[in-house]
Amino acid sequence: MTDLVSLSRRDGVAVVTIDHPPVNAISHGVRAGLLAAVDQIRSRPGAIGAVLACAGRTFAAGSDIREFDAPVKEPHLSTVIAALEALPVPVMAAIHGTALGGGFELALGCHYRIASPDAKVGLPEINLGLIPGAGGTQRLPRLIGIAAALEWILGGKHVAAADALAAGAIDELAAGDLLEAAVAAVRRIAQQKAIRRTSALDIPKPAPADVFTAQRQAVAKRARGFEAPPAAIDAVEAAATLPFAEGMTRERAISDRLKASLQSRAQRHLFFGEREVARIPDIGKEVAARTIDSVGIVGAGTMGRGIAMACLNGGLSVTLVDRTNALADAGRASIAKSYARDVEKKRLSEEAMAQRLERLTAAGDMEALAQADLVIEAAFEDMAIKQSLFRDLDRICRPGAILASNTSTLDLNAIAAVTRRPADVIGLHFFSPAHVMRLLEVVRGRATAADVVVSAMGFGKRIGKVAVLSGVCFGFIGNRMFEGYVRESQRLLLEGATPAQVDRALTNFGMAMGPCAVIDLAGVDVSFLTREGNRPNLPPDPSYCLIGDKLHHLGRFGQKAGRGFYRYESGAAVSDPEVEALIRSEADRMGISRREIGPEDIVARCIYPLISEAAQILDEGIALRAVDIDVVWASGYGWPRYRGGPLFHADAMGLQAIVDGIHGFARDLGNDYGYWTPSALLAKLAAEGKLFKDWSRS
Ligand code: NAD
Repeated sequence: MTDLVSLSRRDGVAVVTIDHPPVNAISHGVRAGLLAAVDQIRSRPGAIGAVLACAGRTFAAGSDIREFDAPVKEPHLSTVIAALEALPVPVMAAIHGTALGGGFELALGCHYRIASPDAKVGLPEINLGLIPGAGGTQRLPRLIGIAAALEWILGGKHVAAADALAAGAIDELAAGDLLEAAVAAVRRIAQQKAIRRTSALDIPKPAPADVFTAQRQAVAKRARGFEAPPAAIDAVEAAATLPFAEGMTRERAISDRLKASLQSRAQRHLFFGEREVARIPDIGKEVAARTIDSVGIVGAGTMGRGIAMACLNGGLSVTLVDRTNALADAGRASIAKSYARDVEKKRLSEEAMAQRLERLTAAGDMEALAQADLVIEAAFEDMAIKQSLFRDLDRICRPGAILASNTSTLDLNAIAAVTRRPADVIGLHFFSPAHVMRLLEVVRGRATAADVVVSAMGFGKRIGKVAVLSGVCFGFIGNRMFEGYVRESQRLLLEGATPAQVDRALTNFGMAMGPCAVIDLAGVDVSFLTREGNRPNLPPDPSYCLIGDKLHHLGRFGQKAGRGFYRYESGAAVSDPEVEALIRSEADRMGISRREIGPEDIVARCIYPLISEAAQILDEGIALRAVDIDVVWASGYGWPRYRGGPLFHADAMGLQAIVDGIHGFARDLGNDYGYWTPSALLAKLAAEGKLFKDWSRS
């Protein structure tokens, strides 16, 4: 065949093997090889059946996504699958590892499927803004019914073999050797049954008549703004209402449209970006990570507890320390309660909870951290406290231990400087709630050793985070960009927009929450204190976050106080006339004339500053690449994945359009504080007609 696909014979059964490490991605070469193998089986009769298997650690785990940017090179996967399905002898897919996307579609085109008990199958295309494009939306409903197929395809989940068996997506689990079991099954079937082609099956288990309407309503809410979910529902509806061939044509048209869409390109950009961020250009593969099995955490408050859970969930042992035994025990008790809630909601087994709690120790004394591999400090945000803690850690911790701070704003270099081992000090900036949010900014200090960086990135991965490297500056990558965004959102209030109008414009743009709602959630007081800590560096602008300051002075600390930018009534945010009156009176006092501001203006006002700041962050070397910035905002700040991150979005808009927009704001609003001067790199790239994606430091 080809290097990628081979054909052999075992006990009278043809065995087609895909061997395309590491995950047997279905590239053009694999498709061509498969088609040749199918042709051979058909043209040289003799085999009583065939098995389709994969070498290495998994069945085909998907199509080769890198090929999606160009038009498909024939043969298309659906052509290969059609040929496979048309074979006159029974064909069995032998699934181990993960059969995903195009890989699972290939398996669905086989007449039968056998899987190792630990295998997983699924159609996760939706996560890339796509739908299955080689018959997945047409064949899966014929095997498991409309309702279940919609759930699988819209959820994009990996389904365990036992569940897939119960649903009818696979036919058998292999107890022992998979290939042996597959060959035996083919031999059995060849004697007993007529071939069962998925495309010829009637759809089983009639779904409720309104299943499509219900799902359309559900995704309009759950996946607001995303094009792929409603398109996937259209494709599955075609399976329910059209003959197979017409359904395939419909699926193909939808799939091709999505593949070329900006949304899917944006989601693919983030998919690759989340892998790219792990690469640190100046650190070679020869730099080995230090072993991290036990983690010490200083501070059993909001962050310390969340970080502890993230570590426990990742299989690590945790010692949680606070100033007293009582405070540390309270931290432990709160973690136990949170796990108990998960058990109650059936998100966690009793056994898993017990295992996690067994690995958690609480202590009222830092000496308990003497043997920890990694210590993460999450005490109060105060330089004197942190420096004193790091002096203690330096004295107590074993040589080679990594000492990390979860500081959001303080200078990591100044913290490291009080120790005798600044090379072992690093920042691990988690986001709240730390066991839920995927983003972890790993902050590399001036003296941080390369192997400490590698260890921290590996630690992030181990506990399921997307770890992005940042240099030291106020706010690191994410919060530094957030600053201008929040500044403008609050200035817009004075100029005439309400908090609800600002938030609605940005959630309609796709942000998970609007900026006013975010601050109410994180704490109006927390945001005020962060400003206080940075006052000397803030512009002397009397309107700067004025409303946030006023709300703080009124004790309107946000959700936790039941009042902030909004009033909270049984958890729901409602507009508060008191806040609107406050805004009007402050605008009057400042002599700011108020006007109607449209949603497009609101969005531009808020996101142009963050794009300009992002360019500055790149220019200064705080972020390694444009995509790192995109990953930070998409995984930690609720930026819509279908817009690919702020810099992907800027590229899509065209950088000159953004520069022109910024100059326009300078003209209309004045530029006393330099808010509307595009950063140097943004201006330069725009002038040269270049894009962020083409930029690299060199
Ligand atoms: P918190 O007030 O909830 O918890 C701080 C804990 O540290 C308290 O339990 C306190 O008793 C303990 N502590 C204080 N001094 C100590 C000492 N000397 N020894 C041992 N324990 C001590 O605060 P938090 O919100 O969890 O924030 C902790 C750190 O994380 C801060 O540096 C903060 O800037 C950072 N951070 C917070 C967030 C957030 O959203 N809350 C996000 C990222 C980073």
